[in-house]
Amino acid sequence: MADAPVLIRARQLSRVYKLGGGDVHALRGVDCDIAQGAYVAVMGASGSGKSTFMNMLGALDTPSGGQLTIGGQSLLNRTPDELAKFRNEMVGFVFQQFNLLPRTTALDNVALPLLYRGMPAVQRRERAEACLDLVGLADRMDHHPSQLSGGQQQRVAIARALANEPSILLADEPTGALDSKTSDDVMDIFDQLNAAGITLILVTHEADVGARARRRIVFRDGNIVEDTQ
Ligand code: ADP
Ligand code: MG
Repeated sequence: MADAPVLIRARQLSRVYKLGGGDVHALRGVDCDIAQGAYVAVMGASGSGKSTFMNMLGALDTPSGGQLTIGGQSLLNRTPDELAKFRNEMVGFVFQQFNLLPRTTALDNVALPLLYRGMPAVQRRERAEACLDLVGLADRMDHHPSQLSGGQQQRVAIARALANEPSILLADEPTGALDSKTSDDVMDIFDQLNAAGITLILVTHEADVGARARRRIVFRDGNIVEDTQ
Protein backbone atom coordinates (compact mmCIF):
# COMPACT_ATOMS: atom_id res chain seq x y z
CA MET A 1 0.00 0.00 0.00
CA ALA A 2 2.95 2.33 0.60
CA ASP A 3 3.22 2.81 -3.17
CA ALA A 4 -0.41 3.71 -3.80
CA PRO A 5 -0.82 7.23 -5.22
CA VAL A 6 -2.06 10.00 -2.94
CA LEU A 7 -5.77 10.57 -3.48
CA ILE A 8 -6.46 13.21 -0.81
CA ARG A 9 -4.00 15.91 0.17
CA ALA A 10 -4.79 18.42 2.92
CA ARG A 11 -2.35 21.21 3.77
CA GLN A 12 -2.87 23.61 6.68
CA LEU A 13 -6.57 22.93 6.34
CA SER A 14 -8.61 25.09 8.66
CA ARG A 15 -12.24 25.75 9.45
CA VAL A 16 -13.39 28.57 11.66
CA TYR A 17 -17.04 28.90 12.61
CA LYS A 18 -17.91 32.53 13.23
CA LEU A 19 -20.29 32.75 16.14
CA GLY A 20 -21.63 35.72 18.06
CA GLY A 21 -19.77 34.74 21.20
CA GLY A 22 -16.42 34.27 19.42
CA ASP A 23 -14.82 32.07 16.77
CA VAL A 24 -14.79 28.28 16.99
CA HIS A 25 -11.64 26.77 15.49
CA ALA A 26 -12.91 23.37 14.41
CA LEU A 27 -9.78 22.57 12.32
CA ARG A 28 -6.49 24.30 13.05
CA GLY A 29 -4.18 23.66 10.11
CA VAL A 30 -4.43 19.95 9.34
CA ASP A 31 -1.80 18.29 7.14
CA CYS A 32 -2.75 14.85 5.89
CA ASP A 33 -2.25 12.62 2.84
CA ILE A 34 -4.55 9.70 2.20
CA ALA A 35 -3.61 7.13 -0.42
CA GLN A 36 -5.91 5.66 -2.99
CA GLY A 37 -7.42 2.47 -1.58
CA ALA A 38 -6.69 3.45 2.02
CA TYR A 39 -8.78 2.28 4.95
CA VAL A 40 -8.67 5.03 7.56
CA ALA A 41 -10.39 5.39 10.92
CA VAL A 42 -10.76 8.99 12.09
CA MET A 43 -10.91 8.97 15.88
CA GLY A 44 -10.92 11.38 18.79
CA ALA A 45 -13.20 12.84 21.46
CA SER A 46 -16.50 14.51 20.73
CA GLY A 47 -15.94 18.03 19.38
CA SER A 48 -12.36 17.32 18.22
CA GLY A 49 -13.12 18.10 14.55
CA LYS A 50 -13.78 14.66 13.04
CA SER A 51 -17.05 15.51 11.32
CA THR A 52 -15.74 18.88 10.18
CA PHE A 53 -12.78 17.10 8.55
CA MET A 54 -15.07 14.56 6.86
CA ASN A 55 -17.40 17.29 5.62
CA MET A 56 -14.41 18.99 3.98
CA LEU A 57 -13.34 15.77 2.24
CA GLY A 58 -16.85 15.29 0.90
CA ALA A 59 -17.24 18.94 -0.17
CA LEU A 60 -20.25 19.30 2.13
CA ASP A 61 -18.50 22.27 3.73
CA THR A 62 -15.82 24.73 2.60
CA PRO A 63 -12.43 25.27 4.27
CA SER A 64 -11.64 28.66 5.82
CA GLY A 65 -8.01 28.30 4.81
CA GLY A 66 -5.33 25.95 3.55
CA GLN A 67 -5.40 23.57 0.63
CA LEU A 68 -7.39 20.48 -0.20
CA THR A 69 -6.89 18.46 -3.36
CA ILE A 70 -8.66 15.25 -4.21
CA GLY A 71 -7.64 13.23 -7.23
CA GLY A 72 -5.31 16.09 -8.17
CA GLN A 73 -8.16 18.65 -8.27
CA SER A 74 -8.33 21.49 -5.78
CA LEU A 75 -11.63 21.76 -3.94
CA LEU A 76 -11.06 25.43 -3.15
CA ASN A 77 -12.62 28.27 -5.12
CA ARG A 78 -15.10 25.96 -6.83
CA THR A 79 -18.62 26.92 -7.85
CA PRO A 80 -21.53 25.14 -6.11
CA ASP A 81 -22.21 23.26 -9.37
CA GLU A 82 -18.62 22.04 -9.59
CA LEU A 83 -18.75 20.87 -5.98
CA ALA A 84 -22.06 19.08 -6.56
CA LYS A 85 -20.54 17.31 -9.56
CA PHE A 86 -17.53 16.30 -7.47
CA ARG A 87 -19.80 14.88 -4.76
CA ASN A 88 -21.97 12.95 -7.20
CA GLU A 89 -19.09 11.41 -9.08
CA MET A 90 -16.47 10.84 -6.40
CA VAL A 91 -18.02 10.40 -2.97
CA GLY A 92 -20.55 8.23 -1.18
CA PHE A 93 -21.78 9.20 2.29
CA VAL A 94 -22.99 7.05 5.17
CA PHE A 95 -24.24 8.64 8.40
CA GLN A 96 -25.05 7.42 11.90
CA GLN A 97 -28.79 7.98 11.39
CA PHE A 98 -29.33 6.20 8.12
CA ASN A 99 -31.21 9.15 6.55
CA LEU A 100 -33.43 6.97 4.36
CA LEU A 101 -36.70 8.26 2.93
CA PRO A 102 -39.34 6.67 5.17
CA ARG A 103 -42.22 5.95 2.78
CA THR A 104 -39.98 4.64 0.03
CA THR A 105 -38.79 1.10 -0.66
CA ALA A 106 -35.16 0.06 -0.16
CA LEU A 107 -34.87 -0.22 -3.94
CA ASP A 108 -36.13 3.32 -4.56
CA ASN A 109 -33.98 4.75 -1.78
CA VAL A 110 -30.91 3.28 -3.48
CA ALA A 111 -32.04 4.26 -6.99
CA LEU A 112 -32.66 7.91 -6.07
CA PRO A 113 -29.07 9.19 -6.59
CA LEU A 114 -29.18 7.65 -10.07
CA LEU A 115 -32.35 9.56 -10.88
CA TYR A 116 -30.52 12.81 -10.07
CA ARG A 117 -27.86 11.72 -12.54
CA GLY A 118 -30.47 11.20 -15.25
CA MET A 119 -30.08 7.44 -15.64
CA PRO A 120 -33.01 5.70 -17.39
CA ALA A 121 -35.44 3.74 -15.17
CA VAL A 122 -34.47 0.24 -16.28
CA GLN A 123 -30.79 0.84 -15.62
CA ARG A 124 -31.57 2.52 -12.31
CA ARG A 125 -33.41 -0.56 -11.18
CA GLU A 126 -30.64 -2.91 -12.29
CA ARG A 127 -27.95 -0.87 -10.62
CA ALA A 128 -29.93 -0.46 -7.37
CA GLU A 129 -30.63 -4.21 -7.29
CA ALA A 130 -26.93 -4.95 -7.76
CA CYS A 131 -25.99 -2.61 -4.90
CA LEU A 132 -28.58 -4.12 -2.55
CA ASP A 133 -27.40 -7.58 -3.50
CA LEU A 134 -23.84 -6.54 -2.63
CA VAL A 135 -24.88 -5.63 0.92
CA GLY A 136 -26.89 -8.84 1.34
CA LEU A 137 -30.38 -7.40 0.97
CA ALA A 138 -31.53 -9.01 -2.28
CA ASP A 139 -34.60 -10.34 -0.43
CA ARG A 140 -35.58 -7.00 1.15
CA MET A 141 -35.72 -4.68 -1.86
CA ASP A 142 -39.43 -3.92 -1.58
CA HIS A 143 -39.36 -3.26 2.18
CA HIS A 144 -39.78 0.21 3.61
CA PRO A 145 -37.25 1.41 6.21
CA SER A 146 -39.76 0.86 9.07
CA GLN A 147 -39.92 -2.82 8.05
CA LEU A 148 -36.14 -3.21 8.37
CA SER A 149 -33.86 -3.56 11.39
CA GLY A 150 -31.30 -0.83 12.14
CA GLY A 151 -28.51 -2.91 10.64
CA GLN A 152 -30.55 -3.56 7.50
CA GLN A 153 -31.35 0.14 7.19
CA GLN A 154 -27.67 0.99 7.44
CA ARG A 155 -26.95 -1.58 4.72
CA VAL A 156 -29.54 0.13 2.48
CA ALA A 157 -27.77 3.42 3.19
CA ILE A 158 -24.44 1.84 2.20
CA ALA A 159 -26.01 0.49 -1.00
CA ARG A 160 -27.30 3.99 -1.74
CA ALA A 161 -23.83 5.44 -1.14
CA LEU A 162 -22.42 2.95 -3.67
CA ALA A 163 -25.01 3.60 -6.39
CA ASN A 164 -22.92 6.18 -8.22
CA GLU A 165 -19.78 4.02 -8.02
CA PRO A 166 -17.80 6.50 -5.88
CA SER A 167 -14.02 6.31 -5.45
CA ILE A 168 -14.33 7.41 -1.83
CA LEU A 169 -16.73 6.25 0.84
CA LEU A 170 -17.07 8.59 3.84
CA ALA A 171 -18.84 7.15 6.86
CA ASP A 172 -19.48 9.30 9.95
CA GLU A 173 -20.12 7.09 13.01
CA PRO A 174 -21.80 4.44 10.81
CA THR A 175 -22.13 1.97 13.68
CA GLY A 176 -23.04 4.55 16.32
CA ALA A 177 -26.71 3.55 16.37
CA LEU A 178 -26.15 -0.23 16.11
CA ASP A 179 -25.63 -3.02 18.64
CA SER A 180 -22.27 -4.77 18.57
CA LYS A 181 -23.29 -7.82 16.51
CA THR A 182 -25.01 -5.69 13.86
CA SER A 183 -22.09 -3.32 13.96
CA ASP A 184 -19.75 -6.23 13.12
CA ASP A 185 -21.93 -7.17 10.13
CA VAL A 186 -21.79 -3.62 8.80
CA MET A 187 -18.02 -3.52 9.35
CA ASP A 188 -17.69 -6.77 7.38
CA ILE A 189 -19.30 -4.99 4.43
CA PHE A 190 -16.87 -2.07 4.76
CA ASP A 191 -13.94 -4.53 4.82
CA GLN A 192 -15.21 -6.15 1.61
CA LEU A 193 -15.70 -2.80 -0.12
CA ASN A 194 -12.19 -1.67 0.76
CA ALA A 195 -10.76 -5.01 -0.41
CA ALA A 196 -12.55 -4.36 -3.72
CA GLY A 197 -10.66 -1.07 -4.04
CA ILE A 198 -12.79 1.72 -2.59
CA THR A 199 -11.01 4.33 -0.44
CA LEU A 200 -12.73 4.16 2.91
CA ILE A 201 -12.64 6.81 5.61
CA LEU A 202 -14.74 6.29 8.68
CA VAL A 203 -15.25 8.31 11.82
CA THR A 204 -15.67 6.31 14.98
CA HIS A 205 -15.01 6.66 18.67
CA GLU A 206 -15.30 2.90 19.19
CA ALA A 207 -11.88 1.26 19.60
CA ASP A 208 -12.97 -2.09 18.12
CA VAL A 209 -14.33 -0.41 15.00
CA GLY A 210 -11.18 1.68 14.63
CA ALA A 211 -9.03 -1.44 15.06
CA ARG A 212 -10.41 -2.84 11.79
CA ALA A 213 -9.01 0.02 9.74
CA ARG A 214 -5.47 -0.16 8.41
CA ARG A 215 -4.67 3.36 9.56
CA ARG A 216 -5.90 5.41 12.52
CA ILE A 217 -5.83 9.21 12.64
CA VAL A 218 -6.66 10.80 16.00
CA PHE A 219 -7.96 14.36 16.31
CA ARG A 220 -7.78 16.59 19.37
CA ASP A 221 -8.97 20.20 19.41
CA GLY A 222 -8.87 20.52 15.64
CA ASN A 223 -5.43 18.98 15.14
CA ILE A 224 -4.19 15.52 14.23
CA VAL A 225 -2.31 14.32 17.33
CA GLU A 226 -1.69 10.73 16.30
CA ASP A 227 -1.42 8.92 12.97
CA THR A 228 -0.49 5.25 12.76
CA GLN A 229 0.79 5.64 9.21
P1 ADP B 1 -16.66 15.82 16.19
O1 ADP B 1 -17.26 15.29 14.94
O2 ADP B 1 -15.25 15.36 16.43
O3 ADP B 1 -17.51 15.56 17.40
P2 ADP B 1 -17.13 18.44 15.00
O4 ADP B 1 -16.26 18.44 13.81
O5 ADP B 1 -18.58 18.20 14.79
O6 ADP B 1 -16.54 17.41 16.08
O7 ADP B 1 -16.99 19.83 15.76
C1 ADP B 1 -15.74 20.44 16.01
C2 ADP B 1 -15.98 21.78 16.72
O8 ADP B 1 -16.66 22.68 15.84
C3 ADP B 1 -16.84 21.67 17.96
O9 ADP B 1 -16.38 22.61 18.89
C4 ADP B 1 -18.22 22.05 17.46
O10 ADP B 1 -19.00 22.57 18.49
C5 ADP B 1 -17.90 23.08 16.40
N1 ADP B 1 -18.90 23.10 15.31
C6 ADP B 1 -19.20 22.10 14.46
N2 ADP B 1 -20.14 22.46 13.57
C7 ADP B 1 -20.42 23.76 13.87
C8 ADP B 1 -21.31 24.74 13.29
N3 ADP B 1 -22.08 24.45 12.24
N4 ADP B 1 -21.34 25.97 13.85
C9 ADP B 1 -20.55 26.28 14.89
N5 ADP B 1 -19.70 25.42 15.48
C10 ADP B 1 -19.64 24.17 14.97
MG1 MG C 1 -19.00 14.20 14.66
